[in-house]
Amino acid sequence: MTSVDFPKHKKAKALKPGSRRPAKELCSECGLCDTYYIHYVKEACAFINQQVEELEAQTHTRSRDLDNADELYFGVHQTMMAARKQQPIPGAQWTGIVSTIAIEMLNQDMVEGVVCVQNTKEDRFGPMPVIARTSEEILAARVNKPTLSPNLSVLEQVEKSGMKRLLVIGVGCQIQALRTVEKQLGLEKLYVLGTPCVDNVTRAGLQKFLETTSRSPDTVVHYEFMQDFRVHFKHEDGSTETVPFFGLKTNQLKDVFAPSCMSCFDYVNSLADLVVGYMGAPFGWQWIVVRNERGREMLELVKDQLETQPVMSKGDRTAAVQQSIPAYDKGVTLPMWAAKLMGVVIEKIGPKGLEYARFSIDSHFTRNYLYVKRNHPEKLEEHVPEYAKRIVGQYKLPE
Ligand code: FAD
Ligand code: SF4
Repeated sequence: MTSVDFPKHKKAKALKPGSRRPAKELCSECGLCDTYYIHYVKEACAFINQQVEELEAQTHTRSRDLDNADELYFGVHQTMMAARKQQPIPGAQWTGIVSTIAIEMLNQDMVEGVVCVQNTKEDRFGPMPVIARTSEEILAARVNKPTLSPNLSVLEQVEKSGMKRLLVIGVGCQIQALRTVEKQLGLEKLYVLGTPCVDNVTRAGLQKFLETTSRSPDTVVHYEFMQDFRVHFKHEDGSTETVPFFGLKTNQLKDVFAPSCMSCFDYVNSLADLVVGYMGAPFGWQWIVVRNERGREMLELVKDQLETQPVMSKGDRTAAVQQSIPAYDKGVTLPMWAAKLMGVVIEKIGPKGLEYARFSIDSHFTRNYLYVKRNHPEKLEEHVPEYAKRIVGQYKLPE
């Protein structure tokens, strides 16, 4: 190869840490701009050039069928199920299905490395993306780092290492950028294991969330917005704390979520091969969406370690979503006794299984649609995918 036909991206220069990114305030710090793949940023960035539907066709051979009610919400898929590990991994976010799949893929030589995110020495929630090459390194990445994480910052190392088979674990905005540069990585096989993602925050935003919501912010090791309409915190001493969604100090938390996450319409990680979350499953179970053949292959590896059941759906979310729109918009916070009561009632009669997932998608898409309309009106038409427009179109929005 002469210097003339040397790939162009080798000449692009990664941005310096802390410098302003091309997507400006909408940047989710996905890590692409920390590498020479910044060369492709105008095409690849999920916040500059939303192209979920085109990339669905590239990845899964077709884009989602907008007239199929499940695909409209959950994207292209072969199957969905609820699952949990028979022997959960201690310290994992849920039962550790993600870490288990990654470990099996490495042990069975399907891949040579796994892009995942460990934490820094100083900070249990400080993200440190790595290419793991042992099960220990994958296990060290278990549990959510509930902050924006530059997972793609290790992509240069992939090409330099000469690795040919890779698994990437990541959230929607990271995976959209990855899919755009996928062909430039020099890989023979790429597997993508995604998680859903919503309401992420900067590290400073996370601190504010913990301080306004938890009784002991410094001892939180893990938290999740769960299907019982409560935030569950786990503390260092093993104790748990629950706070009802309706009791969150919405007025103080309004600005805590990153602008990227307030503008995101890829909650369900449409471009991953396999998605592992929880929101479409009964309480305590994880939710699995197999999007294509690669996803099926990955799940197959761990099936005998899982207990599974079919997905279910119960209740009607629409009234609750419609009521949540002005409540969020006005930053209403209920007194704690009322929030607890509402939590108990809604848990008894509220949406469950896939209907809970639709509740969460609807409330976030309507909120985000309003955010983009008010803060970036010039982007609204191009940035919101057709499926999200249809979902939002079911509700009456304030001006
Ligand atoms: P584990 O075995 O504990 O593995 C977790 C994996 O996540 C690790 O491999 C790690 O590399 C990766 N990871 C951790 N933090 C990040 C990060 N910031 N960016 C990219 N990758 C990361 N599921 C839902 O159903 N609904 C939601 O609303 C939802 N919100 C989420 C928000 C965030 C910020 C994240 C990271 C995940 C979210 N999930 C959501 C997914 C869910 O919380 C679990 O991560 C998932 O079910 C896997 O659990 P596990 O026990 O199998 O994972
Ligand atoms: Fe770059 Fe990623 Fe930020 Fe877009 S979101 S500007 S690709 S770092």
